[in-house]
Amino acid sequence: MTKATPVCTHAKCAKKDNAEQIALDVIAARTSLSFHRVCEDERVGKVPDYRSTCATVAVEVKKLTSAAMEWHIDKLNQQFQGRGFHPMRSLQETWMLLMDTTEARESWDILRQSTGKPRKPRFDTMLPALEAALVQVEAEGANDFWRNSAVSAAVGYPVCGTKIPAPSLGQRPFGPGVLLNDAYGGVRSTDLDIDVSGFLNDWLSSERSSNARESLRAETGWRIAALVADSSGPAKDMLATIRDSEGAPSAPLKLPVEIDEVILIAWPARVILTYGHRDGWHREPLLNLTMSGSRVSQ
Ligand SMILES: [Zn+2]
Repeated sequence: MTKATPVCTHAKCAKKDNAEQIALDVIAARTSLSFHRVCEDERVGKVPDYRSTCATVAVEVKKLTSAAMEWHIDKLNQQFQGRGFHPMRSLQETWMLLMDTTEARESWDILRQSTGKPRKPRFDTMLPALEAALVQVEAEGANDFWRNSAVSAAVGYPVCGTKIPAPSLGQRPFGPGVLLNDAYGGVRSTDLDIDVSGFLNDWLSSERSSNARESLRAETGWRIAALVADSSGPAKDMLATIRDSEGAPSAPLKLPVEIDEVILIAWPARVILTYGHRDGWHREPLLNLTMSGSRVSQ
């Protein structure tokens, strides 16, 4: 793990997340430079995350993920600690339930109700309401259901479910209750120019890149936007196309004036794709990096 030299003692400047550490490891290995953490109070306005000690390279790190799914994963882990099966005494059957998280995964931000309130799944309180809804499903004699409204309301996502049949021999692996999983869909072309260049150009030309652009604007060295993408958010289809391909895109990125190079760290695909206005696209495998934390290591 590469360490960035601190230049101040502010707690806020010392904080870094997994994505920032991954980006630092990748860029330090690529450039053979050492970096320091930039002090947030160094100047008025935004500053980059890292600057090389010789001041020739500045790096701003951004995660390409979904805030809605970050919340989902955190709450699920916090509430269930990895347990997928939840016993329910008033049920007769074991149910396999699938939450449809497509909308959350395709959203950069948390989901909101029409009132503007955050729309969040209720893992902390959902089990009693879910049990009551499933008692009703069993009373109706259904073997499966598609987006049952009472079950979906209890969970906070559209849910479909099916009974797990009893084995012909031996005991059931689980008693009555639910196995809770999630499922999602996506649309991609499998063309790198569309799924990668197009996706990143949309991001670069949108408000979403404004923080990165502002942080790099006043830098005088080579300005790198390091994008760490995980498959829980809107980058999932881009990552699937990178995983299923070998080359780099041919369509150029439209780099904003504040950014000289984009380094895309496709964490689940273990690929680094770079695009600079000097050299165009380059693809290489992401080797020898391990990172703690589940969100970026999936
Ligand atoms: Zn500081």
